Amino acid sequence: MWRFHMPTEVFFGEGVVLGRGELLTKFGKKALIVTGRSSSKKNGSLDDVIGALEKFGIEYAVFDEVEENPSFNSVRKAVKEYRGIGFDFVVGIGGGSPLDFAKALAILLVEDVDVEDLYTENRRWRAVPVVAVPTTAGTGSEVTQLSVLTDDLGNKRGCQTVFPALAFLDPRYVYHLSEDLTLTTGVDALCHAVEGFLSKRATPPSDALALHAMKITFENLPKALRGVNEARQNMLIASNLAGMVISQTGTTIAHALGYPLTTEKSVRHGAATGMVLPFVIEVMKEENPEKVHKVNEIFGGNLLVFLESLGLYKIKVDVTEDEIARWAEKAMKAKHLAHTPGAFTAEKIAKIYKEALKT
Ligand code: NAP
Ligand code: ZN
Repeated sequence: MWRFHMPTEVFFGEGVVLGRGELLTKFGKKALIVTGRSSSKKNGSLDDVIGALEKFGIEYAVFDEVEENPSFNSVRKAVKEYRGIGFDFVVGIGGGSPLDFAKALAILLVEDVDVEDLYTENRRWRAVPVVAVPTTAGTGSEVTQLSVLTDDLGNKRGCQTVFPALAFLDPRYVYHLSEDLTLTTGVDALCHAVEGFLSKRATPPSDALALHAMKITFENLPKALRGVNEARQNMLIASNLAGMVISQTGTTIAHALGYPLTTEKSVRHGAATGMVLPFVIEVMKEENPEKVHKVNEIFGGNLLVFLESLGLYKIKVDVTEDEIARWAEKAMKAKHLAHTPGAFTAEKIAKIYKEALKT
């Protein structure tokens, strides 16, 4: 038995925010915009959203302090400032960090609980609607119910929040991404497609989306890195499709292995996951050789060679044996393992880190 549920209404196209701004009126008269510190002011996305809100007489406030890998404490700060003011909806603008922040805040504006409770209490939360405007082509957070935040101990943790009600994808915003962000976010989309395809939770519709996202990525990511706008546009589509995949399947142990590289070594999320992925799928192969073969086939015969050709392994990370042993122990407790194929052990995970980081 399987189920497919992805309720976000998605609009794609240049100028889509102003072009379809009337859709915002159905969410109410008072919006809270949640965004990062600077990029949305430069790539036109914040101006577009403000323009649409003003055109339709919707009041708004802007919270523009979302940092990369946002922490529980930043969420608490926003809750303190904005809870009880009567916002009808939240508009998240930016990469996965502001979008995930917006989804958690949409609940915390109306539920009198702490952000930690979202991760510990398994219940259905009330929330104001979320409108998502992604400006990176990677996380697909605009079509997932997942919110990944950094807890008080510095661990990245994902929890189920709410699907955005509406997502506006304007590819012009990703034309401004640096080569580095195009690579790391594009590789995140690749990981979502590959991991979702190999997950034990994969379903026929999630596989259809994953296969297509992988093919788009293989054909377009190298060109996107060279600044070809059409390829960047295609990567925004791949990221969106791959987001739909993980909204059904979740991610796998590859994501859990990437987290300490981000929190302790400052490697960007997509790169951290992508570096370990080819070695993780070698272990998954024990249980699902056909699907792993298919993945390698799509990426020109060998996923590792493809990722190397993009320059992913130019990222150098200094690690010690002790760090690797600690991360491997931690990964063995990750809930991702339950739906990851393959017999993972702390020893195999330590080997994956060593191979990926060439230590
Ligand atoms: P991000 O952390 O949102 O942003 C990274 C950097 O990119 C920031 O400095 C940001 O600037 C900048 N940026 C964003 N858009 C830009 C643009 N159009 N042009 C130039 N710079 C731009 O990066 P991300 O990779 O998209 O998101 C990563 C986060 O998402 C992680 O926390 C990860 O765990 C999470 N994630 C969530 C899901 C999910 O399903 N919910 C899936 C995968 C990953 P500003 O600081 O100015 O905004
Ligand atoms: Zn990811």
